Amino acid sequence: PFQLSGRAQSLKPSSTVAVTTRALELRRAGIDVISMSVGEPDFDTPPHVKAAAIAAIESGKTKYTGVNGIPELREAISAKFARENGLSYAPDAVTVTSGGKQALFNAFFALLNPGDEVLIPAPYWVSYPEMVAFTGAVPVPVPTTPETGFMLDPAEVEARITPRTRMIVLNSPGNPTGAVFSPAVLRAVADLAVQHGLMIVTDEMYEHLVYDAEQVSIGTYAPDHTLTINGASKAYAMTGWRIGYAGGPKAVIAAMNAIQSQSTSNASSISQYAALAALQQHEATTEFIDMARIAYRQRRDTIVSGLNALGLSTPTPEGAFYVMADTTRLHPDELEAARLILDEGRVAVVPGTDFGAPGQVRLSYATSLKQIQEVLQRIGAVLEGQS
Ligand code: PLP
Repeated sequence: PFQLSGRAQSLKPSSTVAVTTRALELRRAGIDVISMSVGEPDFDTPPHVKAAAIAAIESGKTKYTGVNGIPELREAISAKFARENGLSYAPDAVTVTSGGKQALFNAFFALLNPGDEVLIPAPYWVSYPEMVAFTGAVPVPVPTTPETGFMLDPAEVEARITPRTRMIVLNSPGNPTGAVFSPAVLRAVADLAVQHGLMIVTDEMYEHLVYDAEQVSIGTYAPDHTLTINGASKAYAMTGWRIGYAGGPKAVIAAMNAIQSQSTSNASSISQYAALAALQQHEATTEFIDMARIAYRQRRDTIVSGLNALGLSTPTPEGAFYVMADTTRLHPDELEAARLILDEGRVAVVPGTDFGAPGQVRLSYATSLKQIQEVLQRIGAVLEGQS
């Protein structure tokens, strides 16, 4: 009775979700599976944020808001960009979306035409090439390697610029690699964008989760060429609240608002008041972020040294809460390796296939140290069973 659109048929569902679904199935069958696959802080949303949401409900702030968000929140985001990133985006150069994902989706639809080429450092977060392809544009991966800790090489970017190139997507600290691009690399990429008239879309969702490196916003180098995306999910443990935002050239923000006005209208009013509290009460929020960063760092050190000791080569990431482990010792094909780790080790990890990372799997360490130790034991047992 119906035919699915060509667009819908060509879209690959998120592989992260596929693994999580399989892990849930095993769990439902009574098998104790540890999930290292979801990109979600295990901490609860901070109490001052929850209190603001409850107050918003009780005081009737439960109606539509402006498409681009409540003015107080856009002002707070504008102040945050200035305070934490050295970026000057006026409140009307800021827009609020239903998660960082929607900010990216709106941005790609606002800026890309079919046939445009978009440079994306690989390994990449799975949604970038899928969203880009959804617009009809063409994702062009720019390879990075575990040997350099997945640092981007601006010469590799430059080598892939053609007359059709329109955009560079950056994600630093990055999912899935945890790489933090150095100020020198970002400066060089910004120069390329200016020289070739390209737009930079920079996804800075993990900016607060940096352990050893210096985190800078590339928008400070090329403000007219940069759209900065961020959100509440990872920084404030607010994944379920669905608040993302973007700052950039006003014409781009206006086009994103027009797209949003014909799709979701506005982010949840209640969640917007919650995000406002996270940004305004920033002493309490900083305390929360510092606590989380210390915990993540300890977990990172434990999982990296544990995986390397097992012979699964894993670079030490400088940010975010993911590691990429080389699983070729277990199986040359990462899909098969992930299957072995799930079915025999009862640990859910994501194969690198859809991240553009063959021979590797991604583990999220946003989970307790105790669980990480258990995971290392289980993977060790799978390796022993193979030898
Ligand atoms: N960007 C990156 C790199 C991510 O890893 C994620 C979530 O996994 C997002 C954006 C989307 O975050 P949200 O839509 O929850 O704000």
